[in-house]
Amino acid sequence: MCLTIEVSSFTNYEINIGSISNVDGALFVSEVRNWRGKPKGKFTISNDGEGCCACSMLTDDADWDDKYWDIKREDLIGLAFTVKKISGLCPEGFEFAALWAGDKIEKTKLISIQDFVKIIESNKIENKTQYKIASAEPAASVDR
Ligand SMILES: [Zn+2]
Repeated sequence: MCLTIEVSSFTNYEINIGSISNVDGALFVSEVRNWRGKPKGKFTISNDGEGCCACSMLTDDADWDDKYWDIKREDLIGLAFTVKKISGLCPEGFEFAALWAGDKIEKTKLISIQDFVKIIESNKIENKTQYKIASAEPAASVDR
């Protein structure tokens, strides 16, 4: 059994979210491929690059049945940073879900990137929840 943290762009499945992996301070972001090796427009986040598994981000006290995932402090910092970078790549927003293998998403929450980063930093990522994250509002037009 396994924890998977999955992200994808709302609208543009061509965006290579995996490029974030090369940024200092970011966690590993791996592209999910189907059985033919074709990309699915989905990516997984982990702290060791071991495929889709994010189990090593969990503390020893984490419980797959809890409301919130209990993630190690150092990985929360990396995750918050990674999510901010993804937001920058996906101006139209992106989806995020941390799910135990075999579990299903039970609710969806619409949230701003700023509020989602606060959730990560306070270690309150909900289980069985898909976050639909609106990226930063476009900069107000200037130079008029
Ligand atoms: Zn695992």
